[in-house]
Amino acid sequence: MTKRLPIFGTHATSLCSECRGACCQQTPGAYAPEDFLNDDGKLDVEALFNLLQSGDAVFGLYDSVDANERRYYPQPAFKKKTDRLVDNRLSFDLGGCTNLTESGCKLSFEDRPFGCRTLIPIEDKEGKPDCRQPFDGMSDKQYVAIKWREYYDDLMMIAERLEPGGYWGN
Ligand code: SF4
Ligand code: SF4
Repeated sequence: MTKRLPIFGTHATSLCSECRGACCQQTPGAYAPEDFLNDDGKLDVEALFNLLQSGDAVFGLYDSVDANERRYYPQPAFKKKTDRLVDNRLSFDLGGCTNLTESGCKLSFEDRPFGCRTLIPIEDKEGKPDCRQPFDGMSDKQYVAIKWREYYDDLMMIAERLEPGGYWGN
């Protein structure tokens, strides 16, 4: 009987299991607006507010070329948490995604952020992970940050409730 591999990373593939979630150990995948849309197509502001308030998610920030157009998006927090609402740290020393456990991601596949679901596990010629997002060279962060622009006012309203007067509004 084949031993069932623990599911690490974003997909239930042997590549992910053997890699043990290198992507999750680095930077969590980004949430897209559709992760929080109600049946009527409107953003479930309270669901996003509650997730951010729980500390299990933060705002990431993707700076565009235009410094006046800052692009925020939600993503799971790092294990080494910050008390700031916007976490723009870039380090491989932050413990990885807060949802990563010894036995893999604690979220069901459907509940994982958009960027986790869209990441495609790919093997390079040497059999090592060379995983890609299907967004014409854009990262999931860049891709969702553009989508979140449509909900900028909602994000700012949530941010003001959670961290009044925070620098995020600039
Ligand atoms: S998606 Fe790639 S980096 Fe992430 S766990 Fe799977 S193989 Fe590893
Ligand atoms: S939510 Fe799950 S799949 Fe996504 S980065 Fe975190 S541990 Fe990995």
